[in-house]
Amino acid sequence: MKNKLMLPLIDDYRVRQRDFLLEISRAITSQLDLSEVLRLALHASLIMLNGQKGIVALRVPDGLFYTKMISGIDRAKIPEINHYLLKLNEIAQTASGTEVFNDVLKEMAQFVDDSLKQTFALPLKFADEPLGMMIVFREQVFDTTANDLQVLQSFADQAAIAVHNAQLYERINQEHQRLAAILQFSADGVMILSPDYVIKRFNRALERMTGYTAEEAIGSYQSDVIQWVNPQGDNLEDAITDGWPYTLSASSYNEDPLYVEGEIVRADGMILSIGITYAPLFNSDGTLNGIIANVRDISKFRQAQDLQNTFISVVSHELKTPVAIIKGYAATLNHPDANWDKAIIDDTLTVIEDEADRLTNLIQDLLTASQYQVQGKLSLEMGLLSLETIINQSVERFRKQTSNHQIITEIPDDLPMIEGDAARLRQVIDNLLGNAIKYSPNGGEIMVGAQYDDHEIRVYVKDHGIGLSMVDQKRIFDRFFRVDGKLSRKTQGTGLGLYLVKMIIEAHHGTVYVDSSLGIGSTFYFTLPR
Ligand code: ADP
Repeated sequence: MKNKLMLPLIDDYRVRQRDFLLEISRAITSQLDLSEVLRLALHASLIMLNGQKGIVALRVPDGLFYTKMISGIDRAKIPEINHYLLKLNEIAQTASGTEVFNDVLKEMAQFVDDSLKQTFALPLKFADEPLGMMIVFREQVFDTTANDLQVLQSFADQAAIAVHNAQLYERINQEHQRLAAILQFSADGVMILSPDYVIKRFNRALERMTGYTAEEAIGSYQSDVIQWVNPQGDNLEDAITDGWPYTLSASSYNEDPLYVEGEIVRADGMILSIGITYAPLFNSDGTLNGIIANVRDISKFRQAQDLQNTFISVVSHELKTPVAIIKGYAATLNHPDANWDKAIIDDTLTVIEDEADRLTNLIQDLLTASQYQVQGKLSLEMGLLSLETIINQSVERFRKQTSNHQIITEIPDDLPMIEGDAARLRQVIDNLLGNAIKYSPNGGEIMVGAQYDDHEIRVYVKDHGIGLSMVDQKRIFDRFFRVDGKLSRKTQGTGLGLYLVKMIIEAHHGTVYVDSSLGIGSTFYFTLPR
């Protein structure tokens, strides 16, 4: 017997050992921090086994063991230690026997420090699932009794429970953080409400949408932050009064979310169109625990819908009018009993021709706009052209259509030719000149001119019409925009003309702008690079 080296396992020692174990187990199992649990467990094992160095290895999801905690060992040795752990794991799985296992352990001890003489490997298991392994090395060899090993294993089992709990806690925590990050950075607005409508969570997207900070919103009632102007359908409070989310027929709860859409007033007083989907969160007994609300900014969608409606109404009206005029005049001319004199026939035919021209222009505009809509760009048929010719042709045509406007041109004789799409540029001049006439109801002079320098050609159309306010000047190039005024309500138009002018000129790498005063007149300019 190597008595001298035997641990003094006398009864008194046993009692102290049990107390120590109890205490340390309590300390470990009350911890939820994984590294703290591992540190305590390793520390206790070292004391109990009189060891100098130790390792705790844990199983990672791919099934392998990796070093998670060391004591008395140089960090730089971890990769090699992991290598040994890999071997141990393989041996354990192929059941190659304890001898091989012990040989590897010995090699590992040798690697850690060649003064180490004895090694203990305690498996950490929870519900038969291997969680990891605690390895303790010591510099002296002591005999260990079966009882010692039993005590050690029961300690290891306690430690395994603590590791398991801490791992679960860590996972829940990670999940919690993941959800919090999803919530915080979601592009949609998300908020969580208590059953009595108090805001508990409020993410960034909602801060942007509503103009309220999370700090201001959290703790307020939902109705203080989401101030509906005109909700479509029941708002949340009304729906809950009506029984949502509980169905009246069944005792079971209703999983159907509630959708509310409409305009809200933001913190800065602006109006925003939103849609909110409310989903109930239930306790296990079926009572309402909270409400999660997903908020979408639907203003773009609303705008698109409005645009589409405008498009349909404007286009149908604009197309119908010239067709009705042409048909009416043609029917009059065609009347079997009528015997029209030459002057009336000429006048009538002029009207028919003008209306047919208007129809052609309108269809041209619509085709251009829809081509742009579908292809995302305007295709141009480029060629060398004379802007002077295009302007003069257009002016000739419009002169025939008006008697109370004097259309004057101011074009230098040496205006250079440029590269461009002749048909599209004709459309530009037609739209600008057409507008100058339409929006100068009292007639007057309309000037169409061109200038050039080394870089560009500049064309302008100047009228003495109703002019435009500063606010309207900013929007006239928008699709379907028409100034809301007595005259525009009387005059026909789609609000597409200037939008297309801008699109066509920009496709030629030019610029468009306006200089206008309300009641005095407007000058529209465009430039084209030479
Ligand atoms: P519309 O088909 O209504 O004429 P446009 O896109 O050509 O559409 O013009 C948009 C709006 O800009 C017009 O409805 C009109 O209110 C305003 N506008 C355009 N040209 C002039 C102008 N020369 N003078 C005053 N207002 C103009």
